[in-house]
Amino acid sequence: MSAVGVFDMLGDDYETVSYSHDAASGLRCIIAVYSTALGPALGGTRFWPFESEEAALRDVLRLAKAMAYKASAAGLNLGGGKAVVIGDPRKVKTADLLRAYGRAVDRLGGAYITTADVGTTSADMDVISGATTFVTGTTNGSGDPSPVTSYGVWHGLKAVAEVIWGDASLAGRHVAVQGVGKVGAGVVRHLAQEGARLTIADIDPETVSALATEVGADVVAPDEILRVPCDIVSPCALGAVVNDSTLPAFNCRAIAGAANNQLERPEHGAMLADAGVLYAPDYVINAGGLINVEDELHGYDPDRAHAKAAAIGARLHEVFGRAKTEGIPPAVAADRIAGDRIRAASAAREHSG
Ligand code: NAD
Repeated sequence: MSAVGVFDMLGDDYETVSYSHDAASGLRCIIAVYSTALGPALGGTRFWPFESEEAALRDVLRLAKAMAYKASAAGLNLGGGKAVVIGDPRKVKTADLLRAYGRAVDRLGGAYITTADVGTTSADMDVISGATTFVTGTTNGSGDPSPVTSYGVWHGLKAVAEVIWGDASLAGRHVAVQGVGKVGAGVVRHLAQEGARLTIADIDPETVSALATEVGADVVAPDEILRVPCDIVSPCALGAVVNDSTLPAFNCRAIAGAANNQLERPEHGAMLADAGVLYAPDYVINAGGLINVEDELHGYDPDRAHAKAAAIGARLHEVFGRAKTEGIPPAVAADRIAGDRIRAASAAREHSG
């Protein structure tokens, strides 16, 4: 791809896109920094056998922007960044390559701070930490973010309840949870403790039946969970669960869960609003994981991380309020709130510098 092509892909966005190469270890990586206006760009390292350099660039740009919006909407002082290492991690991931990658991160001088993502682990972050201090998510860092993500989703569900029924309590509300893995199971336990009625589904039959017994939930087949007549559907498994075929079948007042990229296409947000279904924008309600790892930058304190995740409820109230005032779907309102905060910080930086 020519250099002009790369700049074309950046549009008006993105501060820095950095390509790094280390012939000895075979490292080929791209680090994208969307913005540092609010703070350093924290985002994971995705190690993946991309089919082309262009596919890797597209992915890292898309993911860096998504991180910027997630951090901004969460009220964190972080820009958005992401890195991709090109290659199959099972075949080419070596300590030498990870250290070379750490040096590439280090050369950005703190504009980008990395953490684990698809294809990288906390143990990999330990190796990277030998070459740079700009790394989080090591084995002695903030640990598995899932409990904090679950806690944030639960508070998001309470905000949804308050908007719809004027009462944040979920006692007696019927919630259908799709996917009871690390995050979904935590959400289910919070809801069960509060006295919600629960229907759950997972493609792993043992996981779902053990949890159902533990909390007294009903179980349905994975292909039925989105159509269950209930108060709230909580997608905690896959993306693109709101699409042309699922949309007419929802029988709920709201959709609010942890899964990333729940809307298959942006217009599905408006279609949900037209159908009278309140949608909690995914990157607002599932920000607990990012909040957890961000807390490492201040010396990790799990209580503080949980307290910040609880504020996801207030963030969602702001999103729903703006959606109502401006007559737009919540997903659009979230983008406007996040984008405004980044633009205001950029403008303030320009005026001060
Ligand atoms: P996980 O892999 O632990 O759990 C996912 C669960 O969904 C598994 O139990 C799996 O069997 C189940 N599942 C997969 N396909 C299904 C289907 N068709 N129907 C029903 N169940 C199905 O993952 P997780 O960490 O719990 O993450 C869940 C979602 O939340 C993902 O979309 C993830 O990107 C998102 N998320 C997670 C975090 C986090 O902190 N872990 C943070 C933000 C967003």
